[in-house]
Amino acid sequence: MTEKMLKFISLKTQMPNKRASKKRTKDFKEIYNKFINEKAKEQSSRCSQCGVPFCQIHCPLHNNIPDWLKLVAENRLEEANELVHSTNNMPEICGSICPQDRLCEGNCVIERAGHGTVTIGSIEKYITDTGWSKNWIKPIKILKEIDQSVGIVGAGPAGLACAEELRKLGYKITIYDRYDRPGGLLIYGIPNFKLEKFAVERRTDLLKKSGIKFKQNFEVGRNITINELRKKHDALLIATGVYKSREINLPGNHLKRILPAIDFLRASNKKGLGDKVKNFDNGILDAKNKDVIVIGGGDTGMDCVRTAIRQNAKSVKCLYRRDKENMPGSAREVHNAEEEGVEFLWLSNPKKFIGTSQIESVLVERMKLGVPDLSGRKKPESVPGSDFELKADMVIEALGFDPEDLPKLFNSVDLSVSKLGTIKINLKTMETNLSGVFAAGDIVRGASLVVWAIRDGRDSATSIAKYLEQKKQKSVIAA
Ligand SMILES: Cc1cc2nc3c(=O)[nH]c(=O)nc-3n(C[C@H](O)[C@H](O)[C@H](O)COP(=O)(O)OP(=O)(O)OC[C@H]3O[C@@H](n4cnc5c(N)ncnc54)[C@H](O)[C@@H]3O)c2cc1C
Ligand code: SF4
Repeated sequence: MTEKMLKFISLKTQMPNKRASKKRTKDFKEIYNKFINEKAKEQSSRCSQCGVPFCQIHCPLHNNIPDWLKLVAENRLEEANELVHSTNNMPEICGSICPQDRLCEGNCVIERAGHGTVTIGSIEKYITDTGWSKNWIKPIKILKEIDQSVGIVGAGPAGLACAEELRKLGYKITIYDRYDRPGGLLIYGIPNFKLEKFAVERRTDLLKKSGIKFKQNFEVGRNITINELRKKHDALLIATGVYKSREINLPGNHLKRILPAIDFLRASNKKGLGDKVKNFDNGILDAKNKDVIVIGGGDTGMDCVRTAIRQNAKSVKCLYRRDKENMPGSAREVHNAEEEGVEFLWLSNPKKFIGTSQIESVLVERMKLGVPDLSGRKKPESVPGSDFELKADMVIEALGFDPEDLPKLFNSVDLSVSKLGTIKINLKTMETNLSGVFAAGDIVRGASLVVWAIRDGRDSATSIAKYLEQKKQKSVIAA
């Protein structure tokens, strides 16, 4: 913090009246913004313009990072904002929640030389936040609407990115989503402390103002079949994500207060958005004053432990059957959780859930790492006679997600899916085996990342536009 800022904060504590306080808040904002601006400029000027931009190569969107860093260093923020938006539909969201240590920042040449990475994600967010505050980010204005329509199933990042790109070209777009709000896991998965929901709402509002239609609380399969939707639109995109929680089959599984992670996180997000949530208000999905055990060491597990801490749980423990080095979750998230008071029990595996009607404790066995399995990771093996019991009022299972049975759910048995249940596509065109039906995001990749969903959404838009153009030409020739 600069000396000027510190001086200002000390002044702020001696506020005599309301008017002065208002003025000081304004002054504070100005000084704070200036401070952030200086920080962003300082970080941006650290970019070595290395010539082989590994950061750009390792960003799934191939963002033009060196060029926008240069523009920030030169204080040309409006141009930086334009450049950032040319490859990314949600730069401030990616800037906040991409695992940069595995993507752009982890591959920064300065980081590789051991001098600490340029903070690319936060600069991307800074540029876009500035764009919003200066009103540089505007709804799409199309010159002429094309008389062809696209139906998009799923309002997560893949569906939203595809919709935006196709709308820019002039197509009529309708997005169908089974939840009450658009955003997919950006709204009802990722916790508020990682991604503020207003940032998602701001994006979807912009798309509405751009002429894209949203049909919420509309479940494809229940309200309409895929074949009916195909008749309604010239092309379709399926971007429904993966939502079937993996379960752990143990004695006592039926006990109350053993919850899937997504139910716990969705309830918490809904409360954060001001909704009434019966099962939170009656305590079932609220971790307050409870001894909470989270099973699983991935990113969803980290979101659950950190949410439970914020709900004032009495204690929060995380069980993971391998050791810290082999945890799938981001090292940064594990570190944050540890700092916040989460206790990690590495090499620990639940064996049995104990209780009469609801969970009271978990029988846990110690594990050791054996020889590597086919994936190359050391296989966890139980240590005989090492069992111990842990008290629990709530157990959250965070073991990952699988696709739902889409052909059955959609009433479309001819839709081709893989053994894992993900939709099979032609990798070049992203089209499924059903003509004019494309697919993108987690439902194709399996559980992945927001930035990959955006990439898929953009790529599918390119393919859909090509398909629609050809369809139009064929109909002209036939006429
Ligand atoms: C707890 C959690 C935390 C995460 N944290 C991060 C993170 O920090 N960083 C990161 O990059 N990624 C994170 N991810 C992953 C990321 O959220 C997903 O990869 C991404 O949202 C996938 O986008 P998508 O558009 O494919 O699907 P989704 O975001 O899942 O959206 C799919 C949409 O389809 C709708 N839908 C489904 N079925 C139907 C139907 N039959 N009819 C109509 N609508 C339907 C759903 O309601 C939903 O709105 C996290 C995931 C979880 C679960
Ligand atoms: S989109 Fe993600 S990976 Fe790409 S530059 Fe931004 S933060 Fe890095």
